[in-house]
Amino acid sequence: MPTPLRYTSAQVLDTSRQVYLLDCGEGTQVRMQNFQVRMHAIRQIFITHLHGDHFFGLPGLLTSWALAGRQKPVDIFSPPGLEEIIDTTFRLASSHELPFPLNFHVFDPDQRVVIFEDDTFIVSTLPLLHRVPTAGFLFEEKPRPKNIIADQIAAYQIPFEDIPGIKAGADWQAPDGKTIPNEALTLPPEPLKKFAYCTDTAYSESLASWIQGVDVLYHEATFLEQEWARAAETGHSTVRQAAAIALAAGAKKLIIGHYSSRYRDLWAFLAEGREIFPRLELGYDGMQVHF
Ligand SMILES: [Zn+2]
Ligand SMILES: [Zn+2]
Repeated sequence: MPTPLRYTSAQVLDTSRQVYLLDCGEGTQVRMQNFQVRMHAIRQIFITHLHGDHFFGLPGLLTSWALAGRQKPVDIFSPPGLEEIIDTTFRLASSHELPFPLNFHVFDPDQRVVIFEDDTFIVSTLPLLHRVPTAGFLFEEKPRPKNIIADQIAAYQIPFEDIPGIKAGADWQAPDGKTIPNEALTLPPEPLKKFAYCTDTAYSESLASWIQGVDVLYHEATFLEQEWARAAETGHSTVRQAAAIALAAGAKKLIIGHYSSRYRDLWAFLAEGREIFPRLELGYDGMQVHF
């Protein structure tokens, strides 16, 4: 349930080239305005499952885009059923027809599959353990072309047409037959980034093996350890379970959230979780994580 300070689930992954929306709980569009998210740049929306706290913000957001005269298509990735909900809502609510194409992409949340790819990221599903079919998402950055060292290119007088090959990793053959190794002409690439978004789920051991070495893991932590039985019963995790997944995955950072509305004070989450995984941070509305 939302509280005045904690709205329901939604996150944005902003890569400066693209803005992806992950889940769209009630009030997401308001929160995006509160926190200066580049909301009109969003093109892809990824929905984990069809519980209202993860998608009830969609009709409002789509309507606002329509009112703003949006033309750019919107692609929504979700488990089966969402298209019917959204279509029915717009049909029966006698809203205006959306002025932009709305494309639904249905995935099977029980399978690990690549559901989206552009020139920056590959997005695949992470089957989760919840009361309804649910998948998390793994964003894996694709290899980028190498950065060339301009001074070296000038020093060797390398012709322009050879640059794309060098950026792709090739050595360079000088006119005198000498080979200049690629490492002398390019800077080592930055490590490729990985982000995993995992909510809602009970403790799932296989999850850790699918997200090995992830830079940032967002994992739900609905309950404290005391409520472990309730967590198992409702398909949610305790903070210790979230921390155990981060540890087993070798995550660089863990952000938790999706706290039950029964908890007003969250310090106990920090204390319990950090005993297992010290690089744990409490997620909060408006939090920005740079990585
Ligand atoms: Zn749920
Ligand atoms: Zn939820």
